[in-house]
Amino acid sequence: MAKAPLMDFDKALELYEPVLGFEVHVELSTATKMFSDAPNPAAPGGHGAEPNTQITPVDLGLPGSLPVVNEQAVKYSISLGLALGCSIAESSRFARKNYFYPDLAKNYQISQFDEPIAFEGSVEVELEDGTAFTIPIERAHMEEDAGKLTHVGGSTGRIQGAEYSLVDYNRAGVPLVEIVTKPIVGAEGRAPELGKAYVSTIRDIVRSLGISEARMDRGNLRCDANVSLRPRGQEKFGTRTETKNVNSFRAVERAVRYEIQRQAHILSQGGTITQETRHWHEDTGTTSPGRPKSDADDYRYFPEPDLLPVQPSAELVETLRAALPEAPSAHRRRLKEAWGFTDAEFRDVVNGGLLVEVEETVAAGGAPAQARKWWTGEITRIANATSAEPASLIAPLHVSELIALVESGTLTDRLARQVLEGVIAGEGRPDDVVAARGLAVVSDDTALLAAIDEALASQPDVLAKIKDGKVQAAGAIIGAVMKAMKGQADAARVRELVLERATQ
Ligand code: ADP
Ligand code: MG
Repeated sequence: MAKAPLMDFDKALELYEPVLGFEVHVELSTATKMFSDAPNPAAPGGHGAEPNTQITPVDLGLPGSLPVVNEQAVKYSISLGLALGCSIAESSRFARKNYFYPDLAKNYQISQFDEPIAFEGSVEVELEDGTAFTIPIERAHMEEDAGKLTHVGGSTGRIQGAEYSLVDYNRAGVPLVEIVTKPIVGAEGRAPELGKAYVSTIRDIVRSLGISEARMDRGNLRCDANVSLRPRGQEKFGTRTETKNVNSFRAVERAVRYEIQRQAHILSQGGTITQETRHWHEDTGTTSPGRPKSDADDYRYFPEPDLLPVQPSAELVETLRAALPEAPSAHRRRLKEAWGFTDAEFRDVVNGGLLVEVEETVAAGGAPAQARKWWTGEITRIANATSAEPASLIAPLHVSELIALVESGTLTDRLARQVLEGVIAGEGRPDDVVAARGLAVVSDDTALLAAIDEALASQPDVLAKIKDGKVQAAGAIIGAVMKAMKGQADAARVRELVLERATQ
């Protein structure tokens, strides 16, 4: 995708004020779908089923089939609404959003329109340097997901240029909550960073509620980013673009930044912005036009005649409110204290979007300092090199197992990094990789002593120096032994044995 002409970011901010709006879709991890008893592929362990095996007549809209509302999905939606500081509607209704597309067999999506389950809330978001920002929430409504199309044959994976398309209806009917912000003003030059922080906060909230796996790489959490610019001093908002499915925290930041620069260039040339959806391209870091979009998209919304309004009792709402976990900001303060991290160490974790990972690693038995080191260090390095999210590379449980292997002396740090690579490459759990690659530290002193004796025998001058009390000379022997052991020895133990042996 060709890069559009861009204005320098700072210059763009001098001339224009960015206005943002985010629509975040959250797939709920209920056992079954929103309106049918088909297994939910977004449930824990439900990922990766054979195409078109998780469907019932309801999900395909076959004649005679009728939807039934999933009670658990309603409860999850209420909990999420409450966690977003929203009011919960005493009565809310489903609506049909009509459109034809092959991923939607019914020709309409059951969503909510003028009566969402939750409305008028706010979310506290913390930027990288600790600056707090309040994001106003307009609504959070329930809906069902559509199926998934795979376009085959083109180079881009998009429909343009494809030879044919495959459709998988497994995702059709997966319960979703769509969270829509009000227009966000005042972020100024921090708008890109705020976008990233907002989506990452939503993930934290959703994960803390336990209502979604919340993995962006699997589409459990999807973000559309609306961006517009208005000339300084103008009150009326500018025309927005809606960049669809920006599927990582970093991509949200990059996409917002790109749109600000792209739109600023157009506006500064006297051009106008087209109200449209745009596609984000991760490889080039650019957006390209999707479809034009008017404010009143003609979806011919009307109340869903097959479903009654949802009218949660005040008692249910209060029970769910009482069961809410601690807010992410309070939670963070408590974790920082418990882990004993410095401000900078803790910020590293939070800014890397790794709080949940470190927390789960610690919960699985890993020492906090080690958990932090692995997640913000080696795992992040590999993630950056492959443009992946660290969380998508390895499970916290496996990181805790890796830490345990180092602690027990089975692995040195260097070997542990190789094991990590193996786990990430899909070779199994740390134990499996150690066994398969033969990576365990040689802790058998007999084997070490044999290598030490050989090294001492071949370097008698070094031996003489050590005997003379020149302990630093031992380095050469330790090096030779480590080499002979292919690095699979604990250097400290080798040193102990070398000194013992040489001075016998
Ligand atoms: P749509 O049906 O187009 O997706 P929604 O109401 O679901 O509309 O979402 C639109 C999003 O864009 C909301 O988050 C809204 O606050 C935001 N928004 C509205 N106007 C603007 C604007 N001029 N600039 C940036 N964001 C905007
Ligand atoms: Mg929308």
